[in-house]
Amino acid sequence: MTVAKIAFEKTVQEARLLSPLQDFKLVTQPIEVRRDPLTGRRCRINLERTKRPKQSAEATEMEKIVEASRAKCFFCPENLEKVTPMFPEDFPERRIKVGGACLFPNLFPFGGFHAVGVFSEAHHLDLNQFSPKLLEDCFEGCLRYFEQVHERHPEIKYWHINWNHMPPAGASIVHPHVQLTADPEPTSRLWEFIGSSKSYFDREGSNYWSDLVEAERKGGERFIGKTGPVTWLTSFAPEGNNEVAAVFVGASAIIRLKKHGLGDFCDGLSRTLKGYHALGVQSFNMTTFSGPCDEDLSEYYFLNAKLVSRPNPRHLYTSDDGFMEKLHHETVVETMPETLAEKLREYF
Ligand SMILES: [Zn+2]
Repeated sequence: MTVAKIAFEKTVQEARLLSPLQDFKLVTQPIEVRRDPLTGRRCRINLERTKRPKQSAEATEMEKIVEASRAKCFFCPENLEKVTPMFPEDFPERRIKVGGACLFPNLFPFGGFHAVGVFSEAHHLDLNQFSPKLLEDCFEGCLRYFEQVHERHPEIKYWHINWNHMPPAGASIVHPHVQLTADPEPTSRLWEFIGSSKSYFDREGSNYWSDLVEAERKGGERFIGKTGPVTWLTSFAPEGNNEVAAVFVGASAIIRLKKHGLGDFCDGLSRTLKGYHALGVQSFNMTTFSGPCDEDLSEYYFLNAKLVSRPNPRHLYTSDDGFMEKLHHETVVETMPETLAEKLREYF
């Protein structure tokens, strides 16, 4: 396998300013501009920002947010059955239950098949408290839902497990939960990933994801670890702070996890969340990018998942999603992927 096919391109820009922090002396700040090797999408890393000392987690603010939201929580056990929707009669179960996890339709869906999976009765869990078993029960429920949808609607073949954790990540409910979306068409991003992977295959004659795993394993700087068939990496050109990518070697669709790899994925995810906790992360997004459930694209595409951290919950926080991210689709991050990989590796 030739791994040199993947180009990790970066350039450095320099910003010059007379800094009030150094008696208005001239200072230069380097900014790395990196390109994602698959899509060409750019991101910027301000190396100075990465050196800033991390603020410690505001434990008391977090406790206040958790306590205030507990009183009328829709997902706590005393309310869940009274206030959450049920699947319609043509589905075999009104709510899907696996271990402590409970899944039901989203009350305010943005797709024909949009459900919610509550992990457990616990209203709040720190990121080091998501055990592999807790994750696996819920994700097993997700796969069961997707299969029930597909049996009834064979055209619904793009399945995603999505997670907004805490309000800065877009969660309207604090109680830990995932969102399941199943669609007839890929999302714009998934479309780009699959299309770019196919172009890479046509151009280079190999699977981009397999080449990426090999290149990162050899290079080592961004390699975090392996759990069974799942390889955990930090992204060369991240789309968010503390971005971690999981690549499922050999599988293009999430349906494959049912027989092989779900436990391994949950093991790695649990470890990553422990690492996030140690870094002081309290809020994050996760999603899976799965090919269609009824086709095997593994010749050129592998199922993958991504996590990015978000600002910690507090009353007046600054969003990390500004004009560059929202409108130019170019991310400014303050974490070096190589430093992050080094820190997370301890948990694998
Ligand atoms: Zn709750």
